[in-house]
Amino acid sequence: MAKNREAYNYPDARGYFGRFGGRFVPETLIPALDELESGYRKIRRDPAFRKEYQRLLHDFAGRPTPLYFAARMTGDLGRARIYIKREDLAHTGAHKINNALGQVLLARRLGKTRIIAETGAGQHGVAVATAAAFLGLACEVYMGEEDIRRQHLNVVRMERLGAKVVPVNSGSRTLKDAINEAIRDWVTNVDHTHYLLGSVVGPHPYPMIVRDFQSMIGAEVKKEFSSRGNRFPDYLIACVGGGSNAAGIFYPFIDYPRVRKIGVEAAGVRGISGASLCQGRPGVLHGAYTYLLQDDDGQIKEAHSIAPGLDYPGVGPELSYWKEAGLVEYHQVGDREAVTGFKYLAQVEGIIPALEPSHAVAFLLKFIKKTRKGESVVLNLSGRGDKDLGIIENQKKSSNA
Ligand SMILES: *Cc1c(COP(=O)(O)O)cnc(C)c1O
Repeated sequence: MAKNREAYNYPDARGYFGRFGGRFVPETLIPALDELESGYRKIRRDPAFRKEYQRLLHDFAGRPTPLYFAARMTGDLGRARIYIKREDLAHTGAHKINNALGQVLLARRLGKTRIIAETGAGQHGVAVATAAAFLGLACEVYMGEEDIRRQHLNVVRMERLGAKVVPVNSGSRTLKDAINEAIRDWVTNVDHTHYLLGSVVGPHPYPMIVRDFQSMIGAEVKKEFSSRGNRFPDYLIACVGGGSNAAGIFYPFIDYPRVRKIGVEAAGVRGISGASLCQGRPGVLHGAYTYLLQDDDGQIKEAHSIAPGLDYPGVGPELSYWKEAGLVEYHQVGDREAVTGFKYLAQVEGIIPALEPSHAVAFLLKFIKKTRKGESVVLNLSGRGDKDLGIIENQKKSSNA
């Protein structure tokens, strides 16, 4: 019990969650991180900020998102009652808008006039471009050239929203390289620029800020169960890329050991995965000490998942801490199974899920046999799947060939 309380109070003053986290960054970035941290601690307690954030979440992003009882799926599978937290119904189609709005408001409070961000698949970039447009701030999004090619529609969306998409042609020309470029930009322009990180990763205070700006997901679940007079769910299930949607639903329940929390990583295909917690070991990437996919020499390995948002070789330090403290368990699901989850939810519930949470759906389809009638599961449906229909179509073609 004491252990769980402690979990609730992390990060400590130095930005650590147990032995994970910290600030492994060039000296030049420390003042910027300090400014961000003190600014954030101030606004976190400020009722006017909370009120404005709440209003934006409600009026602009469409919160609270529904907690939907999946009657057909529950009937079909015949065990625990299944509830779906509908983050796919938030504006721009995923949970990422929660964090983007919070940080853009924070940036404005800090007097910043320019927002930069990194994006892999483009979902975070779209959320940031949306929030920046809404609040009238200039916005530039770093994106690997390979991702620009693969995710063309999101590039068009960002540009329509008034953002500048900056191509990155270093390294593997994907997310990892885009993050490096964004950090470089931030070092140079920190006086007027806010770097809006998209998941619970990076140096302190980012993992804390992003977790807090996603925690309404779990708080809404709590409230919904309480107001129906039900005891809390027996299981929470979420997919894990960087870990922000999982942290958002798990954190408010972290001191409730009876609520079993399960994170689902991408096992990818043919041994190339995004499963940092299941297959990696601790090291330093993007400013934090955390579980990473690395080879025997400590070189960061290439990550892969059919879900663009799970294609990252690291994970948030708090999720690493939760693993070692035994507060959250992690499993992995491969590309092929994720597609099965995708198709199942579309056909049984009439919801086309993003490929990221399709991993969680696929896990639940197996795990459900271990649950009992009278129990309940909440699945965090982090986003909608329109963006992935092209991938599914290609998959169909290549498996027919
Ligand atoms: C980006 C994304 C993810 C992965 O990011 P987390 O930080 O792990 O939540 C998951 N689902 C969707 C729909 C996403 O867009």
